[in-house]
Amino acid sequence: DLPLARPDLTWAVTTNDNAKSAEERDAILADPGFGNHFTDHMVDVCWSARGGWHRPRVSPYGPIPLDPAAAVLHYAQEVFEGMKAYRHGDGSIWTFRPYENAARMQRSARRMALPELPSDYFIDSLKQLIAVDGAWVPSADGTSLYLRPFMFAKEAFLGVRPAQKVGYYVIASPAGAYFTGGVQPVNIWLSTDYARAGKGGTGAAKTGGNYASSLLPQAEAYEKGCQQVLFLDEGEYLEELGGMNIVLVRRDGTLVTPESDTILEGITRDSILQLASDRGHTVERRRVTITEWRDGVASSEIVGAFACGTAAVVVPIGRLLAEDFEIVHSGPAADELALSLRAELTGIQYGRVEDRHGWMQRL
Ligand code: PMP
Repeated sequence: DLPLARPDLTWAVTTNDNAKSAEERDAILADPGFGNHFTDHMVDVCWSARGGWHRPRVSPYGPIPLDPAAAVLHYAQEVFEGMKAYRHGDGSIWTFRPYENAARMQRSARRMALPELPSDYFIDSLKQLIAVDGAWVPSADGTSLYLRPFMFAKEAFLGVRPAQKVGYYVIASPAGAYFTGGVQPVNIWLSTDYARAGKGGTGAAKTGGNYASSLLPQAEAYEKGCQQVLFLDEGEYLEELGGMNIVLVRRDGTLVTPESDTILEGITRDSILQLASDRGHTVERRRVTITEWRDGVASSEIVGAFACGTAAVVVPIGRLLAEDFEIVHSGPAADELALSLRAELTGIQYGRVEDRHGWMQRL
């Protein structure tokens, strides 16, 4: 019964007097890395239990004034999204399945007792930001403008209950090509000491605490020479990586991916599986154990695995390292499938391949 947005939302736009010059911006866009640089503006919308959504603004990018008692700082009542804006060959700017991100943010918000931003306002907020910061969308191959919508409890109150004042924001950060010189398989560490989520918990929500709790196991993965960590449920069932979903490839081309209400439903995974199914591959979404993966590799029934998510798109998994065993994928077949699905998906995103599912939305 949370109040919906008012239908009369009109945006107030304040342009940044200290915006970067075209030369400064181009220097950043030439080598942006990931998450280091931010555009000149941000979206800032208020919500209150009494007034619903109000005061939608596009403002100069900058610090957010926050009361030290703001609930988010104490109880982590917060959700976010991650998506990309892509520049097509004709200069136009597009994003990929934004209504899916809008819906996922609503599901995350519901779980974290935050208000649900209507999808149209979500999409509108992206358009508003691109209208002033469109020049920040890079055009080199594999680059994009990463969009980060987020929402948090800003009410100054130390009681433990849903906040009555919330802020919704969007910031944007130019992103370079994730892989330069070809997609490299990743090694992943199987975390058995730590879990990411549990039944009835917040695993399916994109909320900061899930990522805070992944940092220690992620550090353990780095120590073991791995780039990512794989989490299990009940010490047995595959869940997902710190920031990507996982898919196993069987010898007959069947793709198997964990189904669980403790996993973040990746939009990349859903899209890759749709493209695979269009090509005639069978897709199984079900519980899958680490033993099934191990035994399947031993019997050559499972020929590969890949990870997928917005940032890196699709990456073959070269090796899974656990405390007392390892799984090594060395055959090229599964990697070729992963890379060809990756090429099809990025082709759609960059406007080089026909968008037959109507996934792209012009910003
Ligand atoms: N799992 C987790 C935990 C993630 O953070 C992400 C990235 N949002 C994903 C999976 C992949 O989701 P998507 O394909 O929508 O980026």
